[in-house]
Amino acid sequence: MTIRNAMSIDLEDWFCVYVLSQTIDRQDWDNTELRVLQSTRRVLDLFDKYNTRATFFVLGYIADKLPDLIRDIDARGHEIATHGYNHQLITRLTPGEFEKDLVESLEALGRCGVGQEILGYRAPSFSVVEETRWALDIMAHHGLQYDSSVFPIGFHPDYGIAGSPLAPYKITDDLWEFPLTVVDVLGRRLPCSGGGYFRLFPYSFTRYCLKKVNRQQRPAVFYLHPWELDPDQPRLDLPWDKKFRQYNNLRKTEKRLDKLLRDFEFTTMREVLSL
Ligand SMILES: [Zn+2]
Repeated sequence: MTIRNAMSIDLEDWFCVYVLSQTIDRQDWDNTELRVLQSTRRVLDLFDKYNTRATFFVLGYIADKLPDLIRDIDARGHEIATHGYNHQLITRLTPGEFEKDLVESLEALGRCGVGQEILGYRAPSFSVVEETRWALDIMAHHGLQYDSSVFPIGFHPDYGIAGSPLAPYKITDDLWEFPLTVVDVLGRRLPCSGGGYFRLFPYSFTRYCLKKVNRQQRPAVFYLHPWELDPDQPRLDLPWDKKFRQYNNLRKTEKRLDKLLRDFEFTTMREVLSL
């Protein structure tokens, strides 16, 4: 039987990314070129081409800017979930500040007129880590049923919970966790769930890893951002390593996504979790 994997899009614009926050302040967002509409439309067309439904973790700020786009995503049968409002890392927030940001994001989705119940959350930069587990109870308190923010790796300086489970599991009594996908190769956990890892390595690497994950009877979750399909976005002067991670292979993403959708079966997070 073919395993159905989860496809997810973190719906934010090019200037919301954490590594750029030193250069583009949150207060400047309103004066910055909004480009996410065109790139998201291209993603939606690709999903239509393969009859794929996906989960969109929508940033509340974008929902307020582009309510028609969010309604369109909803109407096309995709799942709408939340990515918070201001794209702040949970590691930098107090529980009170996190709750406020989460509630604002849910209200923004409500203002768009999204018909479906919001069940899922993904933290900016995977910032559900050991020290921010308190956030999970706040999510459940506001009606969420799953989180997809934990990277089960121990080698990244900014995120990850080393040794945590690889398949979806109950992370608290009330909340499911759908961890970002890694593959175990010779005792090492290699991320193969999208984003920069998808752009950095050849497509054959992702395909090899996801096939291995599915052979182990595990569903994978894949993620991308619309700005990763936008090679013409403004390029900022960043340190070379950040520049490489941010802008490497942007021209190849769309073609690779097309191949990925051809080679694997994807659906929404809530469907894979049977919620
Ligand atoms: Zn994000």
